[in-house]
Order: sequence, then C-alpha cells, then structure tokens
Amino acid sequence: EYAQHQSSFKKGWNLENSYTTLPDMFHSAQKPVPVRAPKLIKLNESLGEALGLDVNELTNDKGVQIFAGNDIPEGSEPISQAYAGHQFGNFTMLGDGRAVLLGEQITPNGERVDIQLKGSGRTPYSRGGDGRATLGPMLREYIISEAMHGLGIPTTRSLAVVTTGETVMRERVLPGAILTRVASSHIRFGTFEYARRFCSEEDLKALADYTIERHYPQIKSSTENHYLVLLQEVIQKYASLLSKWQAVGFIHGVMNTDNMTLSGETIDYGPCAFMDSYDPETVFSSIDREGRYAYGNQPYIGSWNLSRFAETLLPLLHEDEETAVNMAQKEIATYKEHYFSEWFGQMRAKLGIFDKKEEDEALISDLLQIMKGASADYTNTFRALTQNNLDVLDLFEKPEFKSWHERWEQRRREQEESEEDSYELMRKTNPQVIPRNHLVEEALDAAVEKEDFSVLESLLDVLTNPFDFSKEQGKYCSPAASNAPYRTYCG
Ligand code: AMP
Ligand code: MG
Ligand code: MG
Repeated sequence: EYAQHQSSFKKGWNLENSYTTLPDMFHSAQKPVPVRAPKLIKLNESLGEALGLDVNELTNDKGVQIFAGNDIPEGSEPISQAYAGHQFGNFTMLGDGRAVLLGEQITPNGERVDIQLKGSGRTPYSRGGDGRATLGPMLREYIISEAMHGLGIPTTRSLAVVTTGETVMRERVLPGAILTRVASSHIRFGTFEYARRFCSEEDLKALADYTIERHYPQIKSSTENHYLVLLQEVIQKYASLLSKWQAVGFIHGVMNTDNMTLSGETIDYGPCAFMDSYDPETVFSSIDREGRYAYGNQPYIGSWNLSRFAETLLPLLHEDEETAVNMAQKEIATYKEHYFSEWFGQMRAKLGIFDKKEEDEALISDLLQIMKGASADYTNTFRALTQNNLDVLDLFEKPEFKSWHERWEQRRREQEESEEDSYELMRKTNPQVIPRNHLVEEALDAAVEKEDFSVLESLLDVLTNPFDFSKEQGKYCSPAASNAPYRTYCG
C-alpha cells in the first residue's frame, strides 16, 4: 500500500484540513491578507521535494503568490488557531495573531505536516498587533530552524521566505516578509491551556484525542488511561528535547507555554541564540531581564511548562480531582530523572563514551566547571577534543585541565570500543559549526541592508552539514572577535 501511495503520488499541493474538524472554538476561518509586491527571497528546495511539492511551480508567479498569501493553494481551508499560554509565568489569551494555517500537506511518505504562513496579516487573535513580520527575523527563523534540523534536533522547518513589497513599522521602518513554516503540527501546551480554561470538557477531550491520533497513535492500543499515557509520552519527549538543546548550547529565549509543541518539535525562533563561552547563566534575550529562560534554567522551565500542561489534563485523568492531581504529580516527578538520563547520554557521547559508569557524572561536571572557570568556548572545546587538537585551547595549559584530560583518556581506555570508535562517536555528536551569533547577524545584515543574499547562502551551506569533519570550516568555527554582550529581540 505504501509503495502504491508513493507511485501514485502526484507532485504539488496535496492538502487536507483535519484541524478544522475540531470544535469551532479552536480555530477561525481566516484568509491571509494580500500584500502589494511579493518577491521570493529564499526557497528550501530539498524540503519542498521531501514534501512532494513541484519546486518549479513554487518559484513561478503562482507559487510566489501562494507564499505571499495573495493566492490560496488548491484544497486549502485557511484558518488561524486559538491558543493561550503562560508568558514569563503569566497566563494570557493568545492565538495566531499573525499566522494562517493553509492546511496539512500529505507527503509522499504519507506524513501529515502543517503549512503555515507567518506574517500574513491580522487575524481575530491579533490584539493590538499589525499581523506582520519583518525580513530580518523571518530569515533568522529560517537559518536557525534549518541549523537545528542539521544538528538532528526536532524542529519546525522553513520552506520559504518572501518579501511583501510593503514596509512594517517597528523600532524603525523595515521590509515586510512572510515565512512559510512547516511543522508536524502547531498544537501547543497553550492550546490545551486554552481548552481547559475556555472550552467544555468535551472540547478538551476532542483536542486530546486529536493530538493522540496525530502524534501518539500508538497510545490508542494501550490498555491504560490514554490521557495519562499522553502525559508520560510528552514528558519523555521534552526530557529528550531539552537534553539536546543543552548538549549543543541552544538557548530558546522564550520558553513560554505557547511555544511548546505537543509534537516535541522546537518552535518559534525569536530571541534564541547559541551559547559561546560556557556559562549556565547565559541569557541573550533583551526581554528576559530576570534570566528566567537562561541556558542553565531551561531544563527546569521544561518541567514547569510540563506541569502547566499536566494541569490541563486533570479532568481527563480521573473524575476525582485529588486523585487526578496525584496522578499528574507522580508523572511530573519522573521528568527530572528522564531528563538527566537523556542529558548524561548526550554528554557521554560528546566525550566518546559508550557505556555507563557512576564516575561519568563527575567527569562531565568537572569538565564543565573547568570550562566555566576559563570562559571556554562551548562548541570549540568539544571540537578540539574530537579532533584531538588540544593546542588550540587556552584551557590546555591549565593544570586542572591536564589532569582532567588524563582521567578522560583513562576512562576511554576502560571501555571495549576502540579509540577510533570513540572518536567516530564524538564526530557524530559534536558539531564543527553552530549558527554563531555574529555570523547570523552578518548574514542578516547583508540581506536586509544590502539585499546581498550570498552571505546567507554560504552560511546555510555550512550549517546544513554541521558534523562534516572532512573539511576545515575556517571562520565559521571562530567565536566573535569582540566580547560585546550580544542581545536578541523578538521579531
Ligand atoms: P511569540 O512571542 O512569537 O510566541 O508571539 C506571542 C503572541 O503574539 C502570538 O500569539 C503571536 O501570534 C502574537 N504576535 C506576535 N507578533 C504579532 C504581530 N505583529 N501582530 C499580531 N500578533 C502578533
Ligand atoms: Mg510563539
Ligand atoms: Mg515569535
């Protein structure tokens, strides 16, 4: 049946609209608001192919009009989605204020993925906003999401960026742009919070059942309470996702519950950034004044957000509230253990260690402590260990590093796998390149200020294969020359 599906697949938009079958409370019919003069800035051809789209059709006038929201692809029933969320700890009613879901593309592999336009004009959920987005932040989302994908971290993808030929007022007048985002779905913890607070229990159940069908269909055959298993699965997903963020030094910047997907994909690349020098207190976002979403805090915020999600499920977990609360708390308490187990797994692999020993925890934390004391570049420290090229490290001269290094070598000799296997594991786990903040800014600056997209293209080329150790990546591996504090802003 699968082979038949593939051979009968006709290239092009193949949209379904299952989300509109959810109760009306969850969505509003909403067409994108047309724009004056669309121009295609960037197309993700390989993603387009994987989605079963005809890349030639995407770049012709009709294709570009679709990315701009001036035309609707066949089969689309555009909507914007309702949701709420905790932003910096406070509950707020939100919803797609500047996004429209065109529908779900059914891919040649039979997968169902959302196609969403971001920056496509006002919706019923826009509150005071203009519904628009600007070129810099949309290209930023394109770069970082594709880099995350290259790093093997679950993420939404970016299919295209167009400019609108219109200006958008921010801190100054900027070129308007629309990003076409591809996601397993756009169901958020905040969608459940919305359902719990504003909808009937029946509606909440409809959302939970839809989520199980779409993301966790294996639950349907479980003999246990399906909503309890859903909670367990989502906790495990986030333990895994957070461990991956931490392992590469990714700082999301706005871990509000509306930015947490039920699919476990990273979403919403606003003020995110990658850490340079290792320091758990690293914060880049200009709006995160208290460091709530600092690098070292992310795993704990993951747990806090999961608790908000768990609360929404209480009526489905048990009819007796106290029993339901106890069930939820018991599950939330497992997150910490899941997280550390995943994270130690990531860190062992980064050090080329295959098996598990008690002493590994100290080996890992001692290295991080030394790195922190020396303000060592996070990515480059692991890269130097991977390439056995320690001379490049300032750390190398430090006696505490030398003795750590001996312990590490000793630990690796104790395992069955060869030294070469160990390095091979490290090459698969430690990226050569990450989207370093100054490189991202350089690419965006050239694109937005000079309409020069070559810098962006070169950067994307490198970021697509971050584990390619067969060639030197030169400037892409160097931290910023200046130590000026880096700040990110919401787009
Ligand atoms: P974010 O911080 O990107 O997760 O966005 C939070 C909320 O603000 C979401 O509901 C967005 O849709 C909404 N939003 C962000 N920018 C705009 C805008 N320019 N116009 C309308 N709504 C917006
Ligand atoms: Mg968001
Ligand atoms: Mg955002």
